[in-house]
Amino acid sequence: MSLTAGVVAVQGDVSEHGAAVERAADAHGRDVDVVEIRQSGTVPDCDLLVLPGGESTTISRLLHSEGIAPEITDHVGDGKPVLATCAGLIVTATDAADERVEPLGLVDVTVERNAFGRQKDSFEAPLDVAGLDDPFPAVFIRAPLIDAVGDAVEVLAAWDGRPVAVRDGPVVGLSFHPELTGDSRLHDLAFFGDET
Ligand code: GLN
Repeated sequence: MSLTAGVVAVQGDVSEHGAAVERAADAHGRDVDVVEIRQSGTVPDCDLLVLPGGESTTISRLLHSEGIAPEITDHVGDGKPVLATCAGLIVTATDAADERVEPLGLVDVTVERNAFGRQKDSFEAPLDVAGLDDPFPAVFIRAPLIDAVGDAVEVLAAWDGRPVAVRDGPVVGLSFHPELTGDSRLHDLAFFGDET
């Protein structure tokens, strides 16, 4: 049966995520339809979701005003997987430490926006990730720092001693952008990890 993958597209980068999901699905012999989510009513049809990077204040505002936020909460409540990256991680956090972001509280972490960006806006680093055999080329773009993680949160990777990849139940949250290098192993881990 074909899967439906929703890429939240209210703002930010979306097309590379769709391509990465298609590659990951293909590697597992699964067909996938990728749909872009800009309004309510689509998330309930989705088997898996990506919350991409972008500008978390804008994404948060639009998720709430469009009525998409409670649908994402229900999706996670049903145990369906989500990959939340960079700004996506900020909006799914428990605490975004910024009153302009109304976080969804789906990943039990506290984040600090733009914390990696002060000295250098963007960098790529080889990252050891639990569950992957070889380092992942992680692209950090004005990335959030994960300040604190809840007891139920599994840290999948750290950079400079700080968590940058976490799993909280069905949600994998990444500080960085996994979609920009053509390496779809983290989409694979988030969505098909249990099937291998
Ligand atoms: N700096 C952005 C924010 O705080 C996140 C950057 C990104 O998603 N690449 O919303």
